[in-house]
Amino acid sequence: MKVEEIKKQFEKDLVHASSNQEVEAIRVAYLGRKSKVTDILKNIAKLSVDEKKTVGAEANKLKLEIDSALTEKLNQISAKSTKKPIDISEPGTKYPVGHMHPLTQFIQKSIDVFKSIGFEVYQSPEVDTAYYNFDTLNVPKDHPARDSFDTFYIEDGRDISDDNKLLLRTHTTNSDVRYMETHKPPVRIIIPGKCYRHDTLDASHEATFYQMDGLVIGEGICITDLLGTLRYFAQEIFGKDVKTRARPHFYPFTEPSIDLDISCVLCKGKGCPVCKRSGWLEVMPCGMVHPNVLKKMGVDPEKYSGYAFGFGIERLMMLYYGINDIRLGYSSDLRFLEQF
Ligand SMILES: [Zn+2]
Repeated sequence: MKVEEIKKQFEKDLVHASSNQEVEAIRVAYLGRKSKVTDILKNIAKLSVDEKKTVGAEANKLKLEIDSALTEKLNQISAKSTKKPIDISEPGTKYPVGHMHPLTQFIQKSIDVFKSIGFEVYQSPEVDTAYYNFDTLNVPKDHPARDSFDTFYIEDGRDISDDNKLLLRTHTTNSDVRYMETHKPPVRIIIPGKCYRHDTLDASHEATFYQMDGLVIGEGICITDLLGTLRYFAQEIFGKDVKTRARPHFYPFTEPSIDLDISCVLCKGKGCPVCKRSGWLEVMPCGMVHPNVLKKMGVDPEKYSGYAFGFGIERLMMLYYGINDIRLGYSSDLRFLEQF
């Protein structure tokens, strides 16, 4: 780099310096052992006699100029910092304020709906045993969901029975029997939280996802209570014109088991690519708690009955906000997050 260019660059840099540290950094960059000015002086021996004269003189002159400019700048800075009066009317520094993540906002909204009809929030462990995650829920030992392709097992080096095997819960339903071990009916709880499964990442699947389970046990609880509660929830979230429909299904922990659909909130039931032109969205697996599960809870199936439901929070959140890629929900991209 030519002496003249270095000088120009130095002047530019110095204008922006506003603290002693910044000025010191510029001194190192321009006069330090590895700086460009030192470089020129070091390599002067390689030049011709004529060049040596001019370049050597120019470089030395620049060195002195830089040095005095730096000293002057330091004086300016210290004069400023000691003389500046405090202006108490000056506006303060504005710091950007964050806000709740859209997923958290949606979970909170869902919790509020259930709370308004008497549900309580319960939290269960994310790392649990196979006993609470599967056995208590009437999931047979040979059920494919237990396969390690779906479940993250935790190796903790202990030689233990299959029931005590630790895993990352695959659903929030792991809380149902645990909660009932310490509570007597009537109960009405929702369990929001993170779940984990071996899933290939794509626009609608994540290995970590949120679920919200619900459990109601009491005397005389019947299937219409279940359907009414979930319809109330769907209409509070998506609007009063949302319709629901129940289809029979199979889940090991409920009998009868139901898949509750809601009318497509995007096309209002007319048919669109999201609802695969059917006008319906499959969103809420649910059913009446299986008598075997009630027994595991220590509840007499002859006296009490109950219902349970569990839904993926992300899917509902995506429908609620009109988001088409689940991965956006986990990104920390402010262009996305600032829209909520
Ligand atoms: Zn649709």
